[in-house]
Amino acid sequence: MQWKDRPPAPTEFGGIRLGRVQPGKDYEALITCESMAGHDTHWWKRRTVPCTAPDCTACCEGTPARWHGYLSVFSTRTRIHSVLELTSLAAAAVAEYEDRHGSLRGALLRANRLGNRPNSPVSVTIVPFDGDLRTLPHAVDLRRFLETIWSVKPNREDGQDDPPAGQNIRNIIVPGPPTCKTRPLKSVHHPATIEAAKSNGKGQK
Ligand SMILES: [Zn+2]
Repeated sequence: MQWKDRPPAPTEFGGIRLGRVQPGKDYEALITCESMAGHDTHWWKRRTVPCTAPDCTACCEGTPARWHGYLSVFSTRTRIHSVLELTSLAAAAVAEYEDRHGSLRGALLRANRLGNRPNSPVSVTIVPFDGDLRTLPHAVDLRRFLETIWSVKPNREDGQDDPPAGQNIRNIIVPGPPTCKTRPLKSVHHPATIEAAKSNGKGQK
């Protein structure tokens, strides 16, 4: 028998969740990261995927891209460390604070949804925290965290040390051909297809 008197080391980002401000709940957390991370994303095939423009299949299929900002946060209520996703509207106050103070770490963020729907606008206030920050956890590496949950190949500038092929972006997004923005619709070439499309579209009211 091999006794192991300590639990196994957690996997990287184990237990860290990506969350949003929920309706009907006042949200309060200390920001643990120095800077906000941000990326254009698509809601595509029932999941959030990063926009990979100019070579992005979701763009080519006409799915709108929306910017989201991400913060690593430590809840003052639950004392759980997580990553918070904010819309561009909600993130404006955060960006302004970061630009003014040079860092977000240790700032107190309060947020709530101005409505009962999951996508109601979020109101955010952010102020310096007037308390003991010595026990504030280290920040989550936001870009690595998001790359992990999005399973996107990291964009290394040196071209070295690529991850295994299994993490390639092609597993979740099949990039369109480079000319997809100007790709003619099939129906343009086939009059029969146009007629079929017309009758399909009009016959089902
Ligand atoms: Zn895109």
